[in-house]
Amino acid sequence: MKIAILPGDGIGPEIVEQAVHVLNALDEQFEMEIAPVGGAGYEAAGHPLPEATLKLAQDADAVLFGSVGDWKYDTLERALRPEQAILGLRKNLKLFANLRPAILYPELAGASTLKPEVVSGLDILIIRELTGDIYFGQPRGVRECPDGPFKGEREGFDTMRYAETEIRRIAHVAFQTAQKRGKRLTSVDKANVLETFQFWKDIVSDVHREYPDVALDHMYVDNAAMQLVRAPKKFDVIVTGNMFGDILSDAAAMLTGSIGMLPSASLDANNKGLYEPSHGSAPDIAGKGIANPLATILSAAMMLRYSLNKAEQADRIEAAVKAVLAQGLRTPDIYEAGTAKVGTAEMGQAVVAALAR
Ligand code: NAD
Repeated sequence: MKIAILPGDGIGPEIVEQAVHVLNALDEQFEMEIAPVGGAGYEAAGHPLPEATLKLAQDADAVLFGSVGDWKYDTLERALRPEQAILGLRKNLKLFANLRPAILYPELAGASTLKPEVVSGLDILIIRELTGDIYFGQPRGVRECPDGPFKGEREGFDTMRYAETEIRRIAHVAFQTAQKRGKRLTSVDKANVLETFQFWKDIVSDVHREYPDVALDHMYVDNAAMQLVRAPKKFDVIVTGNMFGDILSDAAAMLTGSIGMLPSASLDANNKGLYEPSHGSAPDIAGKGIANPLATILSAAMMLRYSLNKAEQADRIEAAVKAVLAQGLRTPDIYEAGTAKVGTAEMGQAVVAALAR
């Protein structure tokens, strides 16, 4: 089995290196090939998603991705900016379902900004649709306002849209995932204001008829944001569109105290996927050796489970991560008094050592 390794920019190479060490320490051996992406792709080949990198990702069984982006590329034209690589990969690999678990390890309950009783034991999964919505809808742009009170002024505009097929396939992923967990699904929309999301709600309700064992409820996105902070443990699986999912999954991430702990998977219709930490390239700490590699290591575990059918190996990695937290090892982002502060490489080595035990 072949894994495309795309470290990217900022802390990407540092954290991916640790995940590769962990993969190499498993009983199974995988063929791994590295390629530049994002700013590194632009430097190497003049494009954030060089053709050779895309081909490698297409030919591989799974992709392990670090992160892309750096402020120094902010002046490049949009098509050449590092973040375009993620959009290009999602589009070309037809990745439409983004799975982001938010789990609070008991050892880290104190790292959350919320009271321990509100968050300890949190285990929710946000499923975000990735290919539709206002992020890709056409037309979009800046134009002269054609009518109304601002006629003649410039205006920025985007198009929110979802095709029925797009809603049905993400709904199926969500119901099937909920079946494997607590059998509760919350579909988040803004049906009270947006036609697109009234349509979303109707289609999700229709798909529900095929999954009578799953309890479905619908929630407006503003209420969902409120409930995530007020009583997050009420949720099991949440499914929502691209933009709401983008925002809610970051909010859910912070419930757990550190974005450095959270993995993610983006899947196509055949469970081939791209696996990456939920955070960005953290240019503020890049090169300092202090980034938390656990989100990337846990992303590798998700890759083993969802794309490579190696659930046992995934369990071993997750158990090793729990073990290093129980040992009291902490990167600075999750450090509290009484624990031992370690850097990126030490944390990776500790996970490898825990695997061997
Ligand atoms: P970010 O997630 O990179 O950083 C936010 C904060 O979290 C920073 O203080 C950072 O130091 C900290 N942080 C993030 N990951 C960490 C880790 N593993 N360990 C310890 N601390 C960590 O978000 P940002 O600062 O808004 O964006 C920085 C760059 O990343 C931008 O160029 C942005 O476009 C890009 N970005 C990329 C992705 C991706 O590659 N998928 C996602 C989000 C943002």
